[in-house]
Amino acid sequence: MNIFDIKQSNRNRIYFYIREKGLATTKDIAYDLKLSLPTVTQNLDYLAKQGLISSEDKVVNKSGGRNPIAHSYVADVKVAIGLDIAKNHIISTIVDLNGDDIKHIYQKIEYKRNDGYLKLLGEAVERIIESAQLDRGKILGVGIAVPGIVNHEEDYVVDGRVIDNTGMTCEEFSKYIPYSTKLIHDSYASVFSESWMSSELHNAFYFRLCHSVGGSVLLNDNIYLGDGLYSGEVGHLNIIPNGKQCYCGQKGCLDAYCSAEVLENYADGDLDLFFERLEQGEERLIKVWDDYLNHLAIAVSDIRMLFGCKIILGGDVGVFMQDYMDVLYEKVSRRSPFGEDSRTFLTPFKKKKYSVATGAGLYFVDKFFNNM
Ligand SMILES: [Zn+2]
Repeated sequence: MNIFDIKQSNRNRIYFYIREKGLATTKDIAYDLKLSLPTVTQNLDYLAKQGLISSEDKVVNKSGGRNPIAHSYVADVKVAIGLDIAKNHIISTIVDLNGDDIKHIYQKIEYKRNDGYLKLLGEAVERIIESAQLDRGKILGVGIAVPGIVNHEEDYVVDGRVIDNTGMTCEEFSKYIPYSTKLIHDSYASVFSESWMSSELHNAFYFRLCHSVGGSVLLNDNIYLGDGLYSGEVGHLNIIPNGKQCYCGQKGCLDAYCSAEVLENYADGDLDLFFERLEQGEERLIKVWDDYLNHLAIAVSDIRMLFGCKIILGGDVGVFMQDYMDVLYEKVSRRSPFGEDSRTFLTPFKKKKYSVATGAGLYFVDKFFNNM
């Protein structure tokens, strides 16, 4: 079962075509998307009625004749709100139909399993609505992304040991949020925001290097969950037999070596500071970072062998990865049994910051398009 239906209907294709081109005529759309003119016209009428596109025919060309009607998209006719709930923060974001976050607020708030915290979630939603002076009628819903294995059909957390949310339901998280809500596994939310930006990607493995290490398998445009709903939880790949203690109870899991916390612990719990000091050449941190990349390279190589697909590095650490890719490419390529150059399959996230919150909001944007 997939919560994100990434395949696009003709209407979506037309809408996305217009969005990509900025301005497009009916004829262009029909030709490029290989659709009949009546199909295109019918869908354009629908999109215009919904306020999703506007059509302009006032432009007159040089020969004095009228130009064909050009259609353009209206991105903020509807918006969604996304929440990224983590151990030490609440990030709220407003996402328009273009998939852009038009506003985000980061709050350093420690997660607690109590009513007071749920009130803070309600307040976070209110705050972002007010700060953007948002027309409430535009809000499609609030996607709530949380760490942990989420049963998306029944809307509850099956296993939430990362922040102690096991058994919590969407209804509980939404107690003070007066809009449609949906609980979403944070890994899937970040995959969704990335695949939204890369329509050419159909198969990929997405790494999420946050306070816990996770991942998602994108197969034929769908997120593969597996029978136990934990497919892609690479944080618990055993990379060092009898190695460091993992929070899951096992020893030597990737999570114990590649979570953001491993780095933060060397910089007063501040990941930005870690990379700042690393950039300044602090010797101890250079060693810590090199170890981090060595362990990451093991996991990346294993995943490449398993799926043979593109691998994308995201999450809190993924944000900083761009500047260090050459080192990682070298480490991963060296492990390839087939002499493969890892540049051909390994890349950092396109969507840099707030990908989890954005992806959570995109759930409602996607749903909106699918119900059109
Ligand atoms: Zn583990």
